[in-house]
Amino acid sequence: MDIETDYLVVGAGASGLAFADSIMAEADVDVVLVDRRSHPAGHWRDVYPFVRLHSPSAYYGVNSMPLGQDRLIESGRNKGFYEQASGDEICAYFEGVAEHLTSTGRARFLPAHDHLGGKGNEHQVRDLRSGDVHTVRVRRRVVDAAYLETSVPATHQPSFTVTPEVSFVPVNALPEVADSYQRFTVIGSGKTSVDACLWLLDHGVAADRIRWIRPRDMWFNDRAHLQPLDQVAKTMEGISRDAEAAAEASDLTDRFERLEASGRLMRIDPGVWPTMFRATMLSQPELEDLRQIEDVVRLGRVRSIDADRLVLDDGEVPTGSDVLHVDCSAIGLRASKAVPIFGDDRIVLQQVRYGSPSFNAALLGFIESRDASDEDKNRLSPPDPHPSSIEDWGPMMRLTWLAQLAWSQDPDVDSWVGSSRLNLMRALPEHLDEPLMQDALTRYLTHVGPAIERLSVRK
Ligand SMILES: Cc1cc2nc3c(=O)[nH]c(=O)nc-3n(C[C@H](O)[C@H](O)[C@H](O)COP(=O)(O)OP(=O)(O)OC[C@H]3O[C@@H](n4cnc5c(N)ncnc54)[C@H](O)[C@@H]3O)c2cc1C
Repeated sequence: MDIETDYLVVGAGASGLAFADSIMAEADVDVVLVDRRSHPAGHWRDVYPFVRLHSPSAYYGVNSMPLGQDRLIESGRNKGFYEQASGDEICAYFEGVAEHLTSTGRARFLPAHDHLGGKGNEHQVRDLRSGDVHTVRVRRRVVDAAYLETSVPATHQPSFTVTPEVSFVPVNALPEVADSYQRFTVIGSGKTSVDACLWLLDHGVAADRIRWIRPRDMWFNDRAHLQPLDQVAKTMEGISRDAEAAAEASDLTDRFERLEASGRLMRIDPGVWPTMFRATMLSQPELEDLRQIEDVVRLGRVRSIDADRLVLDDGEVPTGSDVLHVDCSAIGLRASKAVPIFGDDRIVLQQVRYGSPSFNAALLGFIESRDASDEDKNRLSPPDPHPSSIEDWGPMMRLTWLAQLAWSQDPDVDSWVGSSRLNLMRALPEHLDEPLMQDALTRYLTHVGPAIERLSVRK
């Protein structure tokens, strides 16, 4: 079977679908989406059963279809914030998106197909069920929506060895097996490990039965500053604090101290200086509960789990057969090297505005649909690698601010950004008369120029 299309999108996760949805809304183009997985939604197919979006559903997904109903959460640690979809809801949503796109007759989805590569405009995909290889002729471009492919515990290979005698499971298995164990060792510093610890606390496991292996501590954004719609003024306040800290701090340490003092960033242990920043978020009540876990091991990364001990870079701790070791060590979003997004025959989807994967992919679809040179498209889309350490915060913020400045100077892009449901700030114009918004905007506009200048010389 030979296939011909305008755009071959490799990866039908959140990014590939958001790109396809957006370019199809703007231009009369034909799109073929391929994915190794048998269903759309990318890594969400392999997440742990108790996962939820960390960000509100209101600005996640694809541009043309709402996710959720913009309700406020009524109970629990995130009470009062905008709803966050569960993993199942996200999978069902993306299934609906794929159905909607294919129903137009302008998109085809090839599940369980591996993109093998290509030369010029001829690409090969293998049907993983039959083994057949098909040629896809691409009239315009291939869209690499897998460059930043997300790594999750269920499918990754841990970087350490585990002796068969110990109980070791990916976080996905926790609900099934937790009742059989007395003690738990959660391995990982990121948001997945946070979710595992909170799940254990929520299911009656006392904090002193949990050991947490945290190779690096992490800074978290306060969830209150990443809310859309009627809470957008608080979000603007958070952004103004970023600009202020970047403009005024004397060095990296001072910058993070200011961000913490202003409430923009938070750390679990006030006595330990985090070196990790991955732009994830927590609420104050989540933070308070996590602080109950006092058995935190900071001896570097795990090298092996033996029957009676855990061997780490900088030491060992005892373990035993009554301990369930919970793997939360997958990297999540990759901090891949930045490459130009718009190339000769290829588009490589990457982050442009930080913390907004859906928005970025949709924006890139919109930018591709315009009659403009690649130089112009790349000017509007500087790739901004995902952060990993505190050193990445400055370059990441600078590129985000520069990109936003470029969008604001282009009326079409500015208008698309202003109306996109995936834009966290889309409700800003309706809240301009709130005192908090006015104050935050004034502080942001005063500081963002000096902040960009300062971050240009100081990494
Ligand atoms: C637990 C968790 C929670 C998260 N929560 C949020 C959140 O709340 N808000 C937010 O904005 N972001 C969140 N993220 C970030 C998240 O990674 C993105 O939102 C998004 O889902 C990533 O989608 P993607 O399409 O870029 O990548 P993926 O989901 O990894 O999709 C890439 C796809 O490409 C396919 N593929 C790769 N190579 C090939 C090939 N050669 N041929 C065919 N197919 C191929 C893969 O099979 C995969 O399906 C979260 C991430 C994790 C891990």
